[in-house]
Amino acid sequence: MRTYLWVGLLVSLLVSLSQSQLALAQDRLLDASLAGQPSVSLTGYFASLEDASTALTLDEVRSPAIAPRFETSAPSAAAINHGLTRSAYWLRLTLSNPTDQPLARMLQIDYPILSSVRFFSPLADGGYRLVDTGNAQPFDTRGYANRGFVFPLALPPHAEQTYYLRVQSLTPLIVPATLWEPTAFHHHERNDYLAQSWYFGMATAMILFNLLLFIALRDSIYLLYVTFAVSTVLAFSAEYGMAKEFLWPETTFWADISSGVFLSLAVANGLLFMRRMLDTTRNLPKLDRLFKALIALFFLAPLGFFFSLRALIPPTIALIGLTMLLVLATSLYCAVVKRQRSAIFFALAFSMLLLGAAVLVMRGLGLLPTNLLTAYGVEYGSALEMLLLALALADRFNTLRREKAAAQQHLVEHLQSHERVLEARVLQRTEELKAANERLETLSVTDALTGIANRRRFDEVLASEWSRAARAGHPLAVALLDIDWFKRYNDHYGHPAGDECLRRVAAVLRDQVCRTGDLVARYGGEEFAFIAPASNGEDALAIARRICLALENLALSHQPSEFGCVSCSIGVAALTPAEGRSPDQLVKAADEALYRAKEQGRNRAVLAEA
Ligand code: GH3
Ligand code: MG
Ligand code: MG
Repeated sequence: MRTYLWVGLLVSLLVSLSQSQLALAQDRLLDASLAGQPSVSLTGYFASLEDASTALTLDEVRSPAIAPRFETSAPSAAAINHGLTRSAYWLRLTLSNPTDQPLARMLQIDYPILSSVRFFSPLADGGYRLVDTGNAQPFDTRGYANRGFVFPLALPPHAEQTYYLRVQSLTPLIVPATLWEPTAFHHHERNDYLAQSWYFGMATAMILFNLLLFIALRDSIYLLYVTFAVSTVLAFSAEYGMAKEFLWPETTFWADISSGVFLSLAVANGLLFMRRMLDTTRNLPKLDRLFKALIALFFLAPLGFFFSLRALIPPTIALIGLTMLLVLATSLYCAVVKRQRSAIFFALAFSMLLLGAAVLVMRGLGLLPTNLLTAYGVEYGSALEMLLLALALADRFNTLRREKAAAQQHLVEHLQSHERVLEARVLQRTEELKAANERLETLSVTDALTGIANRRRFDEVLASEWSRAARAGHPLAVALLDIDWFKRYNDHYGHPAGDECLRRVAAVLRDQVCRTGDLVARYGGEEFAFIAPASNGEDALAIARRICLALENLALSHQPSEFGCVSCSIGVAALTPAEGRSPDQLVKAADEALYRAKEQGRNRAVLAEA
């Protein structure tokens, strides 16, 4: 029977209780011909003797004084199990060969971590041949190379042979012994190594794959997975005797404690992995502190194993049991209550390991039959766990990628909307600026008091109309207007009334000079002007007269004026641009005409002489 050390201890407690009450008086003789059976469990055929001193020799246990103290137990499917003990145990087995042929048989003890196993087989001369081996002995002390302990037996025809087995161990003293027909054993052995290779091969592949993922993705969770898987696989390989056979065959003390060391490290690494996987630091901060303490304990425990493994096994097992329950509860809580996807995978994976362990315990208790599935339950459980955890990592990777993509999308949308807002704001500012510029431009060419064009605008338009007239060969007319006796108006009515008067005059001008292309402007002070493109002197004079008349008709009261109302004098001039002529000449001519209008008595328009 293969028994996983830590689970084995549990089994041992239960089984040893039942066995102690069933001691028989007589050794049971086993017919080694096995009656066609491939194998038989030897448990019920051993007589056993506890040697608390660990000093007894073969001769002493065979002596009449001590030999009767051997006790026999009832046949049972379960192994002989004395739990943790400092005593050595002597097991006596008597086999008979009732046939006419010599019989070859294999005695197998399928518990590779027994520290010391001494097998005494009788020789023809009445002496005994000793194979002194055990987990704490170099591997080549085994007569037969197997991860467990296997002793080939040869039974002469019609003979009874008594064998002695002395076992002692730092770990629980469990002796699952089986007697095999050789061909059946070799068949079993091949299947056994096949199952082991399958497990270790799969585990190695998972470890290497996740190591590569760690190198490629630089996410430490893959490294945590790798350290967890490596320590688990090493714990199993030590427990199952594979490490002793293939990794460290020469070691003695190390071989004895290695399974405990790696089990403790596996639990610590498993907790580290779980903390990352379930993000307990954030999700369960209080429990996370407890996990940290447990991790420290399980990392430190192996140091203690170097000094006293036996004393530390019971508290370590109790702590592992509690930790397992805590891990299960935590992963279920995160899966069910917190609805974490990764926790569902984790809980499922972890349950696989627990299920494997449960199968092993139940088989140990005889509740399940021994077959490939139950014999390697823990290993299958562990393999499934590793697979599911790798799946969980893949799922986690996927989730992170989706979250990242969503975050990026969100960022892009945010940036886009921000950009749109900015664009709209820039557009609005541009419009505002344009309007402001237009306002400014209008202001710069507008007279503030009257709202018509100012002197600057007048000069610009005069220059451009002069050029245009030059190109077209048209005459250009300009008139200058001056309000009569305006000084007196101001003096009489006050300056604000004078301003209002200026506005009224401007309005009249605007009304009367209304052809497209015409321009009215405030020339300065109480003087106004207009430009009439493509007009000759007569046309412009007609406009000027209309203005004088319209102002007269407006009848703005002007007491100090001899006309009684506001009037104006206008000088008009027209010129066709030509060589040697300039706009200044035109204005000068209009100004002279204005002067003459004043001279002639005001309130009139005068055309400059050609
Ligand atoms: P004349 O008939 O010879 O033109 O007599 P006048 O009093 O109008 O003489 P002049 O043209 O020299 O007078 C200009 C007056 O116009 C002087 C000034 O007080 C007044 N004036 C000039 N600009 C403004 C203005 O913006 N507002 C007001 N209220 N008065 C102004
Ligand atoms: Mg004037
Ligand atoms: Mg005047």
